[in-house]
Amino acid sequence: MARTRSRSRAALPPAKPVVIIGHGLAGLVAAYELSLHSIPTIILDQESSRTNTGGQAFWSLGGIFLVDSANQRRLGIKDSRELAMRDWMGSAGFDREREDTWPRRWAEAFVNFATDEMEAYLKGLGMGFLFNVGWAERGDGRADGHGNSVPRFHVTWGTGPEVVRVFEEPVRRAEKKGTVEFRGRHMVTEIIKDAEGRAVGVRGKVLQDDDAPRGEKTNRVEVGDFEIEASAVLVASGGIGGNVAAVKASWPVGRLGPKVPDNFVVGVPAHVDGKMIGIAEAAGANVINRDRMWHYTEGVSNWNPIWPNHGIRVLPAPSSLWLDASGKRLPPPYFPGTDTLGTLKHICSTGYDYTWFILDQTIIAREFALSGSEQNPDVTGKSIWQLITTRILGGKGPVPVQNFQKHGADFVVKDNLEDLVQGMNVLAKERNGPVLELDKIREVVETRDGQMSNPYSKDHQAMLINNGRLYWPDKRSRVAPPHKLLDTKTHGPLIAVRMNLLTRKTLGGIETDLNSNVMREDGSRFPGLYAAGEAAGFGGGGVHGYNSLEGTFLGGCIFSGRAAGRAIAEEVRPGSLSTKVAEQSRL
Ligand SMILES: Cc1cc2nc3c(=O)[nH]c(=O)nc-3n(C[C@H](O)[C@H](O)[C@H](O)COP(=O)(O)OP(=O)(O)OC[C@H]3O[C@@H](n4cnc5c(N)ncnc54)[C@H](O)[C@@H]3O)c2cc1C
Repeated sequence: MARTRSRSRAALPPAKPVVIIGHGLAGLVAAYELSLHSIPTIILDQESSRTNTGGQAFWSLGGIFLVDSANQRRLGIKDSRELAMRDWMGSAGFDREREDTWPRRWAEAFVNFATDEMEAYLKGLGMGFLFNVGWAERGDGRADGHGNSVPRFHVTWGTGPEVVRVFEEPVRRAEKKGTVEFRGRHMVTEIIKDAEGRAVGVRGKVLQDDDAPRGEKTNRVEVGDFEIEASAVLVASGGIGGNVAAVKASWPVGRLGPKVPDNFVVGVPAHVDGKMIGIAEAAGANVINRDRMWHYTEGVSNWNPIWPNHGIRVLPAPSSLWLDASGKRLPPPYFPGTDTLGTLKHICSTGYDYTWFILDQTIIAREFALSGSEQNPDVTGKSIWQLITTRILGGKGPVPVQNFQKHGADFVVKDNLEDLVQGMNVLAKERNGPVLELDKIREVVETRDGQMSNPYSKDHQAMLINNGRLYWPDKRSRVAPPHKLLDTKTHGPLIAVRMNLLTRKTLGGIETDLNSNVMREDGSRFPGLYAAGEAAGFGGGGVHGYNSLEGTFLGGCIFSGRAAGRAIAEEVRPGSLSTKVAEQSRL
């Protein structure tokens, strides 16, 4: 096979470059930090760097976990470092002596970053946020347990593409100056070490050009080999969520059993294949907490897919009635938007891999948000007019939600309960699920409706709805007024949605210290090798422990990518950090 030389290598200064594997958010943030010091950098990616820079972050909603932000204060939300730290630790549930050593330190450092620095860092790059701070993962009902005590999910004005833009633009400027080079369609297969065990380069395969649109699966036809010497190597290659076989192999049956679920829809592009984590491990990196993953329980099959088996996550607010596959209501605290992993565990215990939402037009219009930049054209396109007319004033909900109602394979829309249950049974049959009995479903719905006559109730979900409406932005735009589902004249039609399990994030990964320097199994540092973003479990090999508070993945890429970029700069050019401000003003 022919050995290829990369196109513009001659343009780089003679010093060995830093090699970054992955042009996703973590890789771009590190490259941005390196560009502030004009450090020669090559960014390799198996996908095209013309069409796919930003990786998953481009598709994201751009939700970012911030603590005590300007918008929180403006909305009267009283948040603090102490409250956020308690929430984080209560959610993470760190319980492993060796494997949670660095993740615990990363967790503390990340909450501090989210409190003290991240907002200013991002705003300094030109990012802004929606006025309304979202309340994700509202918790498992315990003050010391999982969940956000207050709203902390800050949606970027412009969603994922904007998050990517603010880091990519300065890196592209550095590319023009010749200090950064993007090499797309370069798939790394090996980390090269010298005799002392230091990472000194990478080898891999050049893939055939493929101009498929962003996000689509591309070919893996190898047309050449490459080898690059490096002063340091950063693994920023993402997680395993696009590789269902890898997800199943890592499934913690003891915790989320009794068996590995059969069916998933896939929430990430096919390039999130996890292979690079294994390649780093083969070189001697320590990979930890592999059994910790963050998959969603409210996935719907995309009627207009981009990547294989493309699923969209519904970001639900609290009002939909949630039933298991056999029609039983999920017990407290497993209501929409409260406790992802607890709900996943409960669903797995039923032996089925899908559940049902029952709701109506009033609830879907107000409460269904779809995760993904392409599913939120108003926020992605920065249109205040569209945002207000569809989400606040309109009774139909955003157009992408309406499209799912019309075309989604998991949706049943009917005028009465009898027809609804009949439609649900057609979908249940597709999955060999239990037949739902109309009388039993009616009993569950009527019992729930019976709790909606007063502003107080003994029903935990009714309390959750009323509590949500005490936060005024949610009352205006996110949580529907409590009402009876069977009042179809006012709130109909009725809607049922088959909710699938959706693969997304990898919470474990390559173990690193606080500089994103990779650790070896014996606890020593791997010289020259760094890891950031999802490949590093968003820092340390598992900063989230078992649970996320949401918005912590983009934030985790930013924090760990920044740490890697700064530490590598300091390693390859000692004194870099002290010259940072001067360099920044020259860029
Ligand atoms: C639809 C969607 C919505 C989301 N919404 C949010 C949100 O609102 N808030 C939030 O915090 N998070 C969100 N996330 C999660 C977040 O976007 C990701 O976790 C994050 O962007 C991961 O970034 P990364 O740089 O670590 O990896 P990636 O984006 O996966 O990038 C890794 C890159 O490495 C390349 N690569 C992999 N292996 C190799 C190899 N061997 N050789 C060369 N290149 C390789 C890949 O091609 C890829 O381009 C969302 C994700 C999705 C998909």
